[in-house]
Amino acid sequence: MITEKNISGIHHITAVSSSAKENLKFYEDILGLRLVKQTVNFDDPFTYHLYYGDNQGSPGTILTFFPWENLPQGKAGTGMVTAINFAVPRHSIDFWSERLRNRNIPIKTVERFGDPVIQFADPHGLPIELTGVAAPLSTEYRKNGPIPETHAVRGFHSATATLTSLDESKALLIDIMGMSLHGQERNRFRFRMSQPAAPGNYYDIVVEPDSLAGRPGTGTVHHIAFRTHNDATEIGWQSNLRASGRAVTDVRDRKYFRSIYFHAPENVLFEIATDPPGFTVDESENELGSSLRLPDQYETMRAEIERRLPPLRSPGYRHAIKPAPAMNLKN
Ligand code: ZN
Repeated sequence: MITEKNISGIHHITAVSSSAKENLKFYEDILGLRLVKQTVNFDDPFTYHLYYGDNQGSPGTILTFFPWENLPQGKAGTGMVTAINFAVPRHSIDFWSERLRNRNIPIKTVERFGDPVIQFADPHGLPIELTGVAAPLSTEYRKNGPIPETHAVRGFHSATATLTSLDESKALLIDIMGMSLHGQERNRFRFRMSQPAAPGNYYDIVVEPDSLAGRPGTGTVHHIAFRTHNDATEIGWQSNLRASGRAVTDVRDRKYFRSIYFHAPENVLFEIATDPPGFTVDESENELGSSLRLPDQYETMRAEIERRLPPLRSPGYRHAIKPAPAMNLKN
C-alpha cells in the first residue's frame, strides 16, 4: 500500500448557492475566477455543479457550487466550514476593498496572524474572505478576465471551520492527516499543510463552545476536499482513516478527480480528492467551462437535463475565451 504521511493542501471547497446565474455573475465578473467546468451534481443530475478556479482549475484554487434554487437559507454555526479564504497580493488589498465597495458589497477588514483580511459575503450569504499575503503564489492567470494580473486572486489561502471544541479535530488533523499546529490567535487555531508551494495551505478552527450548530442550506459550505497525489495514495488514506475507526466511503469517480468522503468531528464533511486527471479530461484548456459536460451515465439524458437546467448566461453571451487560431499547415 502506498501511503502519504501528510495531506498537502486543500483541493476544492463546495458550497450551496441559490440562482446559478447570479452565482456565475459574482464569481466570474466580480472575483474574476474562471468557470472551469459546467456539469451536474453526479448524485442529482438536474442540478448544476459549477466549478471556478484559476485558468486551469488547479487543485487549491477550486471553489464549486450546487445551485439548489429552492433550498431554504442556511445559517453559519458550529460543525461546519464557516469561511472560505482566498489569497491576494498584499498590495491589492486597497484595490479589492474599493472594487467590492463600488459594487455595494459591505466589507469588514480585520487583521489575522499579521495579514490584512477583507470579509464579505457572496450574493447568497456565503462568507468569503481575501487575505493579503506578502509573497503570493503564482497561479494560472485567467486571461481576458476582469482583474489585472497584478491583483488577481491566487487560489485559496485557507478555510475556517467553527467548532465547539478543538481536541478531537486536532487529533484527526495532526495525528492522522499530518498537519501541524501553526499558530493560535485567541480562539482561532491555525493548522498548516505540507505543500507551501501550492495554494490552500491552512485550515483554521475557531472554537466557540457556546455557539449553536450551523444549519445547512443556501450560503453554506457543503464540504471541503483535501488533496492526494494519485489513486494509490487515495487508497492509502482510505485504509488509514478506516484503521483509525472512521467510516469512509468507497472511492467515487467524480470524472475530474476520484474521491473518498468521511465525517470529521462535529459532522464536518471531509473529502480527499486525487489531483489527476483534472478538468482537461473532457475539454481543452481553451474551452474549459464553455459548455455543459456530462458524465457518461447521464449522456443519454442530455436533452432532458438541458431542458430542466436554468440558463447560466443571458442570451447573446459569447464565450470570452477566443479559440486558438487555426494552424497554418503550410509552414
Ligand atoms: Zn467535493
